[in-house]
Amino acid sequence: MHGRDFVSRRPIVPMNHSFDTIIAGSGLAGSCAAFVLSENERVLILDAEQPGCGASGVPVGLISPLMARRARPVWRMEEAMQSFHRLLAESKASSHFSASGVRKPARSEEQAIEFRDASMKWPDHGRWFEPESAAERWPYLFTQFGVLEVTSGGAVSMPAFCQTLVHAACDRGAESKSACAIQGWEDSGDQVTVRLSSNEEFTSRRLLLCLGEGYTEFPELRALRLHPIKGQWIRLRSRDNLPQTVAISSGSYLARDDKGIVVGSSYEHKYSTIEPTEEVIKDLHREACLLIPSLRRSTVTDAGASIRVTVPEIRLPMLGPLPGSHNVWIFTGLGAKGLLMAPLLAYELPKFFEKPSAIPKEISVNLHGSGHRTFYRE
Ligand SMILES: Cc1cc2nc3c(=O)[nH]c(=O)nc-3n(C[C@H](O)[C@H](O)[C@H](O)COP(=O)(O)OP(=O)(O)OC[C@H]3O[C@@H](n4cnc5c(N)ncnc54)[C@H](O)[C@@H]3O)c2cc1C
Repeated sequence: MHGRDFVSRRPIVPMNHSFDTIIAGSGLAGSCAAFVLSENERVLILDAEQPGCGASGVPVGLISPLMARRARPVWRMEEAMQSFHRLLAESKASSHFSASGVRKPARSEEQAIEFRDASMKWPDHGRWFEPESAAERWPYLFTQFGVLEVTSGGAVSMPAFCQTLVHAACDRGAESKSACAIQGWEDSGDQVTVRLSSNEEFTSRRLLLCLGEGYTEFPELRALRLHPIKGQWIRLRSRDNLPQTVAISSGSYLARDDKGIVVGSSYEHKYSTIEPTEEVIKDLHREACLLIPSLRRSTVTDAGASIRVTVPEIRLPMLGPLPGSHNVWIFTGLGAKGLLMAPLLAYELPKFFEKPSAIPKEISVNLHGSGHRTFYRE
């Protein structure tokens, strides 16, 4: 049996349920997978807390196909955007997406050049506004160097999106259990037995691990050498009448939820606590005021922190069977692109289950095992 501490075993309560796939964890990875797989499979979704926790518990996230400092397209940009919209429509989750576009104010002349270039190369996704026209259009925004508007982007209420996906999966026949932490698993070749912290057991043909930061509890997953990065967010209350559709990304990001303006995010590679810290709360507030100067009059009403999992160097998700196991799969490493990568890869899961060799090399688990990382010798 693989997993956490099995020393003090309580009596096992065997369960007769059998599933095609048990999905452990229902953040963006697990909930997108659950919705897609439940169309043709018997699926059980287990979460230590409830759907939309972990990193997916950040109240609002942005989806923007032109990302980061240079506004370059993400991996498989067009398919990723199509998959996101298909998932929204099929799961009836459209109300959790605000198709506001995402404004990216340039922070320097050099960045303005990059952004202008991006708007010319990908005109279906981005429009460039010189400082004067940007100031007219968005008078509340920092527009000194001009603004790239990512027209196809927008804001998503991430926890609500995950919850809707799991509900929709259950409407298709899946079962979902909250407050059920998995404790370990055994792959006998024909089936996987999953044990919960309650000592219940479930069996299935396959186990899909979508644990986010929960991977750190399991030595065999720690051996994958994933890299956790802490991210903090704050919520601001402002008396200014900022538009409902405010969605900005430039170093940090801002978007509205029903309680205020959410500002994210820090990227902390080293951290001693997973709680929000005063220092970062102040930094995020300062950043928000730089992008929208009137927010100097705002107050911080809330703050949170969670861990996003990344795959070092490759900076793409990781998906595939664990080395030495055909039936235990991992789907993780979504980094800061959960909204783009989770729907894209979820739709491909049935194909990958059928034919694991179809998994693109750059995201497969084996690449990491046979490459520069000492996977088996850990
Ligand atoms: C501050 C911040 C801002 C972000 N902003 C954006 C953004 O704007 N756009 C974007 O696309 N992405 C954003 N991200 C990244 C995005 O949140 C992640 O990529 C995504 O949520 C990761 O999803 P996941 O399902 O892999 O993991 P998680 O969301 O962490 O989900 C893991 C789930 O597994 C469960 N779990 C853990 N251990 C166990 C266990 N033993 N048994 C059962 N269940 C378990 C947890 O309860 C949780 O529900 C942001 C992240 C942070 C931290």
